Amino acid sequence: MFTAVARVFDSDTDCDSDSDGEADMGMDPIVNALHSLAAAFEPDGGLMALTQQAILEKLHEIQAPGGRMNLVEAGAVRGIDVEDDGSVKVVLAVEATDPTVASEVRKAVEASLAQVEGVGTVEVTVHPLLATVQPGPTHAPEPPPTWADKIPGVKQVIAVASGKGGVGKSTVSANLALALAATGHDVGLLDGDIYGPSQQMMMGTQAEPMGDPDGRIHPVESPGGVKVMSFGFLVDPDQPVIWRGPMLQKALEQFVGDVIWGDLDFLVIDLPPGTGDVALTLCQNVPMAGVVIVTTPQDVALIDARKSLHMFKKLGVPVLGIVENMTVYQCPECGHVEHVFGSGGGQRTAEELEVPLLGSIPLDPAIVVGGDTGKPVVIDRPESPAGKAFTELAKNLAESLG
Ligand code: ADP
Repeated sequence: MFTAVARVFDSDTDCDSDSDGEADMGMDPIVNALHSLAAAFEPDGGLMALTQQAILEKLHEIQAPGGRMNLVEAGAVRGIDVEDDGSVKVVLAVEATDPTVASEVRKAVEASLAQVEGVGTVEVTVHPLLATVQPGPTHAPEPPPTWADKIPGVKQVIAVASGKGGVGKSTVSANLALALAATGHDVGLLDGDIYGPSQQMMMGTQAEPMGDPDGRIHPVESPGGVKVMSFGFLVDPDQPVIWRGPMLQKALEQFVGDVIWGDLDFLVIDLPPGTGDVALTLCQNVPMAGVVIVTTPQDVALIDARKSLHMFKKLGVPVLGIVENMTVYQCPECGHVEHVFGSGGGQRTAEELEVPLLGSIPLDPAIVVGGDTGKPVVIDRPESPAGKAFTELAKNLAESLG
């Protein structure tokens, strides 16, 4: 009686681990097949040569997967080895995504070869050739969504920056956002000043942001119709925030992408003062229409504004212009105008750096009170000189962005 010993390799079986020589046959199939065929045609090949030929002939009778050709025609035969004692090893490679196909071929070959005269044991190895299976359309793995992909409804992002703190950057951000909304635009305000969030207070937004079942957050709508999101809603503004490196990056990404901004004409981002990690991260990840730099008129503030301006230029963020804040103080009683921080600094810097001076906001003590009580001057006293100056700034900016 004949015994059949067969193995089927799955695609991740390691041929090299086989120590009985079968793997070698698999490794060098063409050489093996040629040796086998050459031996079969030697004149004095005897019983062994006849058996190899007989095996090849038998393999002609077995259909390859797909049914159009036999195993030999299909090029499936990778090796035939016949020993003196009649034991036979055959290595095949067939196209098959489904491992059961290789198994069926193996069984068919075993059964067929066992009937050949002179054959002892039969060992059939069938390699499923996954690589030659007809590939479907190839799909490159989807790249992860960018931050911009996550805010598809936002048309223009405007960053508001300053070289140093205390020059009125947050005040300008809040009033600029409101002035843009007052002129019919859909506007969002993101308080990117995560180390000193103040927009939750300045904008007079009392409600807390609501979460969605899918983990996204609804911004809070302020009086005046601006959608606001601030870290001040989420953390105790009196506690210091210590976020660095990847954690900071992740937090900012969620802040931009996990907030349901919807369709906006403008998203105004109040950046932290200076040229630190937050400004850098946001500018590198959020496609900005441009940045507005807020400064006070005195020289020392202008030095910082210049530094900030150069950083944005280096990052490839267009500098839309400069806003000079706290320019003049006009006495409400007598009308006397006082240039408390000097005069003309913003204009000079704008000319020197070849960027527009987008607006000049007067010093107005009521702005301080309005900021602390959530009543920005644009909605509290729109007809005041400061209110009008912010409206003018919004108009200039919207025009410069087309
Ligand atoms: P920054 O964001 O640059 O740190 P803020 O916007 O917080 O600055 O302003 C600092 C302080 O200056 C606040 O008390 C604010 O109310 C006040 N302030 C800003 N702009 C004006 C202005 N034009 N007139 C009077 N006070 C102002």
